[in-house]
Amino acid sequence: MVLEKLGDSLKNTLKKIAGSVFVDEKLINELVKDIQRALLQSDVNVKLVFELSNKIKERALKEETPGGLTKKEHLVNTVYEELVNFLGKEGHKIEVKGKPFKIMLVGLFGSGKTTTAGKLGRFFTKRGMKVALVGLDVHRPAAMDQLEQVAKNANVPVFIDKKEKDPLKIWMNNINEYSKYDVVIVDTAGRDALSKDLIEEIESVNKVVVPNERLLVISADIGQAAQSQAEQFHSSVNITGVVATKMDGTAKAGGALSACAVTKAPIKFIGIGERLDDIETFNPQGFVSRLLGMGDLEALLEKAKGAIDEKDAEDLGKKFLKGQFNLIDLYEQMSALKKMGPLSKVMEMVPGFSQIKMPKELLQTQEGKLEKWKIAMSSMTKHELENPEEIDISRIERISKGSGISVKEIRELIKQYRQSKKMMKMMKGSGDMNKMMKKMKGKLPPGMG
Ligand code: GDP
Ligand code: MG
Repeated sequence: MVLEKLGDSLKNTLKKIAGSVFVDEKLINELVKDIQRALLQSDVNVKLVFELSNKIKERALKEETPGGLTKKEHLVNTVYEELVNFLGKEGHKIEVKGKPFKIMLVGLFGSGKTTTAGKLGRFFTKRGMKVALVGLDVHRPAAMDQLEQVAKNANVPVFIDKKEKDPLKIWMNNINEYSKYDVVIVDTAGRDALSKDLIEEIESVNKVVVPNERLLVISADIGQAAQSQAEQFHSSVNITGVVATKMDGTAKAGGALSACAVTKAPIKFIGIGERLDDIETFNPQGFVSRLLGMGDLEALLEKAKGAIDEKDAEDLGKKFLKGQFNLIDLYEQMSALKKMGPLSKVMEMVPGFSQIKMPKELLQTQEGKLEKWKIAMSSMTKHELENPEEIDISRIERISKGSGISVKEIRELIKQYRQSKKMMKMMKGSGDMNKMMKKMKGKLPPGMG
């Protein structure tokens, strides 16, 4: 897969968000560091990396969470949006209008021009257009043979001349043919570097061919060096777009894509393999979605949500504040908190909570205990569950016999219930309560704030 490593790193980072309890500064800092590391490994320019990560951080810390989104969803969305902007924001489709629509491919040796000519031949044929290739690479000995083969594979006609050494003559010799085609793709010669000689050749071909699109073919394995190459070609021969090839074979593709995104020449296609079908139009949104595995990600966020059913938790939170909660609520709350990690850790992260003395038992509820409480509760009547204050010693003994849970443990359950209720009253009584709840809002998982 293209950019597999970068994708994996980013996916892991997003998993961290999904699996975290709170979206707080600590998480955001961690996230930003992960993203920086992943992009630097993909050869993205350091300056660009910091610009991007600062933007993500600033938005994550300052932006208000839009209605209908949880903090986590908003954070994931922010990362997604900023990566899309980073890669050029919008896709730049080639609109074929006018007949023949002429596309000239330029670029250095081995960048993938001839291969791309065949790929584009197939691409436009598949979209119902009549396509022809024209070979103007008169420098490489086997260039014409290669294009001939490529055209044959793509099943499109090709105009070449294996003896002619002047590209302009090859073009002119077939000038009456081109109007029969919707799209004419022109393969040109490369050089080792953008030499004066190459610029002159491209310019003279350009004048005669008058292409609608001048696409620079760049091999993505040069990473961030793609920026100066794109800029040089742009200022010398005024390219209209870039085809980034060999995206499949390099870890540096992130560098190449982001480098081109800051130039005036947008990436229009990416080459993702050696076969004729291995070409795609470049669309930052779709590209980033796939990179981040948005499908998987949605599932992940769903799962994180499932840990606490939002609606239930919300009801519970309200009851909690009104001091109306009963034993069932206590149990549900304890098991929900359990899923988020040790309660003491959870409470540490909530501003205000650290000042309130929490009953030690409340912070140390063990899994086994919760299980026993559940069994004990199944031997209680509905009235008892809803009015735990009325559970006296004779009821406790009855429940113990019925459930097999010891009297001591049932008493502990009742004790914990009373303590929780007392704690809530205390919190309610304190004048800062409202302020604190406001502060907690958003810092707590849904419903708890
Ligand atoms: P040119 O000199 O610019 O015409 O480059 P070629 O089209 O001859 O391609 C040079 C080499 O790169 C060939 O071996 C191609 O098979 C290979 N190539 C081109 N595009 C891609 C691509 O998207 N992925 C991979 N893996 N190889 C490619
Ligand atoms: Mg070639």
